Amino acid sequence: MLECIFCKIIAKEIPTEFVYEDDRAVAFLDIHPTNPGHLLVVPKSHVADFLAVSVEDLAACMKILQKIARVLPQAYNTPDFNIMQNNGVGAGQIVPHLHWHLIPRYPADPLRIYPHEKNYDETVAEFRTKIKQILA
Ligand code: 5GP
Ligand code: ZN
Repeated sequence: MLECIFCKIIAKEIPTEFVYEDDRAVAFLDIHPTNPGHLLVVPKSHVADFLAVSVEDLAACMKILQKIARVLPQAYNTPDFNIMQNNGVGAGQIVPHLHWHLIPRYPADPLRIYPHEKNYDETVAEFRTKIKQILA
């Protein structure tokens, strides 16, 4: 996937602020951080999205996310963070190479990822029934 920007980053073809790398995945600072310290964790093997990733690469990425999250208090002076994965264009995914955002949160910062502005209570039971039926 030579045209993929994250594959180019992984191949070290683009200057990038890496913080961690192992045989399956990398972590680097986002070029347009949502909050100071915003990082991305990316499997080395090119897959477009969450549905396509192998369980081994998934586990590797989760381990790295936890490893970095554990040092946030030391690194950024905050224990708080959001982990996000935008899956699909409709969900805001711009780079079609699977990645997780690790976004440090700071006291009273203005980020509102889940605004809870609408009340969907009437659909909760309907979706519970539907999803349980499909998964069964
Ligand atoms: P998405 O919307 O696909 O979940 O997020 C893609 C993220 O990748 C964005 O936050 C964007 O700032 C970041 N990004 C895009 N291109 C580059 C790049 O060349 N280098 C780095 N470090 N981050 C990038
Ligand atoms: Zn790629």
